[in-house]
Amino acid sequence: MSDDAPVESAEAPFETAQAWEDAREALRERGLRWTPQRRLILDVLAQTSGHITGAEVVERCRARDSATIPSTVYRTLDVLEQLGYVRHSHGADGREEYHVLPRSEHAHLRCLGCGAAFDIERDEAAELVGRLGASRGFTVVLSHVMIGGYCPGCEPSER
Ligand SMILES: [Zn+2]
Ligand SMILES: [Zn+2]
Ligand SMILES: [Zn+2]
Repeated sequence: MSDDAPVESAEAPFETAQAWEDAREALRERGLRWTPQRRLILDVLAQTSGHITGAEVVERCRARDSATIPSTVYRTLDVLEQLGYVRHSHGADGREEYHVLPRSEHAHLRCLGCGAAFDIERDEAAELVGRLGASRGFTVVLSHVMIGGYCPGCEPSER
């Protein structure tokens, strides 16, 4: 995740123990048993700020428990998203990236040169979103807006 450092380091980690305690209860209510593996997934997420791909969650869980099953990780992420604890967006390659909430919904700028990600808050995107709504009747889901380009430090190498 080092390529996300420029912006994401400014985000506070999801640190309230109570929130994760609630997540654990919520998983239980959805019929997902509280297993060591799910505990590990929540642990990994709790230590994350900014974006993390599903593959990275799997990787970090694997580092601590080699028996980690990817499908369990993805299923748990799905449920956590339904419950509002994480939300996914898409990276430049279309991969799903998870944001650990609470975090306001936002769009992304992604540098095609160095891979840096920058968040675009709702205010900044308001004009574009409003215009697309008015001209096309299109309701933009901000977390799914990803604009590729080049940051000030990178030379455009493709168009
Ligand atoms: Zn999606
Ligand atoms: Zn760059
Ligand atoms: Zn973001």
